[in-house]
Parts: sequence; structure tokens; C-alpha cells
Amino acid sequence: MDLGLKNKVALVAAAGRGLGKATALRLSREGARIAICARTEASITSAARNIMHETGGEVLPLVCDVTDKEQLQAMVGRVIDAFGGINILITNAGGPPAGVAASFTPDDYRAAVELNLMSTIELCYQVLPLMKKNKWGRIIAITSVAARQPIDHLILSNTARAGVLGFLKTLSAQVATEGITVNAVCPGYTKTERIEELAAMFAKTGQGTVEEFYRKIEADVPMKRMGTPAEFASAVAFLASEGASYITGVALPIDGGYIKALF
Ligand code: NAP
Repeated sequence: MDLGLKNKVALVAAAGRGLGKATALRLSREGARIAICARTEASITSAARNIMHETGGEVLPLVCDVTDKEQLQAMVGRVIDAFGGINILITNAGGPPAGVAASFTPDDYRAAVELNLMSTIELCYQVLPLMKKNKWGRIIAITSVAARQPIDHLILSNTARAGVLGFLKTLSAQVATEGITVNAVCPGYTKTERIEELAAMFAKTGQGTVEEFYRKIEADVPMKRMGTPAEFASAVAFLASEGASYITGVALPIDGGYIKALF
């Protein structure tokens, strides 16, 4: 199936590894021209090299901390200089630390909001004018199932990500006549280093062993397994495609059936 992504320019944030990198790889396989960022130069350069080796496509690696407005502005400017515009924006960032209410102060919530909510808002504001000019755009925010169904030990994530959905849903209606779709994807447990961090935290806080963590999360998923980054990226690529032109304002779980709500 041709997704119609050849020569589209995609900016994928927080893509040195994990879900962001898998998404960039998939979009590159579909013929898109890719810009990716992370904070660590070595990891983003190696991710770009890796993707180019796999696909033969163009991949521009950029060092950027998505919580820093000036760095975001500079990054968007460099993508425009290199590729002439941005058609597809994938917002993403690391996840905030795991813990319960008693483990945090209000400053920790501020940091989580900067990391997951404000980075999404900043990037959307910077890229939307380009999409409006072109009368075409795809904005896809990588969030979490926690945005739709709070997870007990992830109070920072639950709080910040709910705000992301509120912003995107409202924005989606406001740009709907301009050829721009705005959606969120909500990964469930997917095999990346983030999951290894959560497993280590589970063990460190005396909740059980790392193996028990994996058994517990897999038991909670109707498919009885974690997802793979490639499965996640397939769904994102579809939302970015020409074929998804009538899908907007959706928060799509990619979770093996983990979310218990009706829709
Ligand atoms: P990951 O494996 O930890 O990768 C995160 C990537 O983001 C890294 O490349 C990291 O590189 C980059 N990054 C982190 N903070 C950044 C910042 N401030 N600015 C720019 N880049 C940054 O995580 P993942 O599993 O791919 O998850 C991606 C997002 O989905 C996270 O928010 C995570 O909480 C969420 N999520 C994941 C799962 C899962 O099962 N994997 C489930 C639900 C939600 P640097 O450190 O070099 O910056």
C-alpha cells in the first residue's frame, strides 16, 4: 500500500532510540525526508546513520532539548533550511519519572508539564504556520495510554499527558478546514529503554523483581505481550499518510487492548 509519503518532510522529535526512532525509520522507508532530534549528539547521529543505512533515505540529525524554546526554534529553522518546509510533525519527549503523589513536589509536575505538554505546544505553534501555508499537514503527538487511562505509579505522566489530549483535540477542530489533521497516539507497553527504566524503578522501590514487573504488565494486556516499536510505527505512518485524510482529533491506543474503556 502506497502511503503517499514520498518526499514529504517529517520532523520526528526525541528520536535517538525507541518509539521516535522506529517512527523515523518507518517514515523514511516510505520515502519521506526526515529530521530527527535528541539531546545526545552521539545517539542522534548514530540513529540517523542507522536509518540511512537501512533505507537509503535522507535523515538530518539535530541536537535539541525539546523543553528549550530557543533550541526548538533553531531546530525548526535548520529543518526548513535543509528541506524547505515541514509536512509531518511527530512530537515526542522522554517520559517523566515514575512515582506516586507522595514522592513528588509541585515542581516535579512543572517539569513534567514542560517536558510532555509544553514541548508539544511549542512545536505545534512553530510548525503550524508552514502547514497552513501549504494547506496540508499531519501533526501526530506521541503520548501514552496514561493519557486515556491513568496508571497508578505514573502520576506525573498521567497529569501532563491529559493536558496534551485537551490541547490537541481543541486544535484539531480549529485547523480542520486547512488540510491539517491533528491526532495523538497512545502507546501501551512497548519494548524500549523506557520500559527497562520503569522495570528498574519497580525493583528499586521494592515492588518486586524486574521479572515480576514484566510478568505483571504482560498479564494486564489482553494480547499477553508487549508491543514492538515497529508495530507502533506502522500505526503512526498510517496516520501520517494521504489515506488518513479524514481522521482528526483522535487519540489512538496502540496497546494490544490494554485500555479498558469502550473507546
Ligand atoms: P526511550 O526509549 O527512553 O527514548 C526516548 C528518546 O527521547 C531518546 O532518544 C532520548 O534521547 C529522547 N529524549 C528524552 N528527553 C528528551 C528531551 N528533553 N529533548 C529531546 N529528546 C529527548 O522512550 P520511548 O519508549 O521511545 O518512549 C517515548 C515516549 O513515549 C516517552 O514519553 C514515553 O514515556 C512514552 N511511552 C512509552 C511507552 C513504552 O512502553 N515504551 C509506553 C507509553 C508511553 P536523549 O536522552 O539523548 O535526549
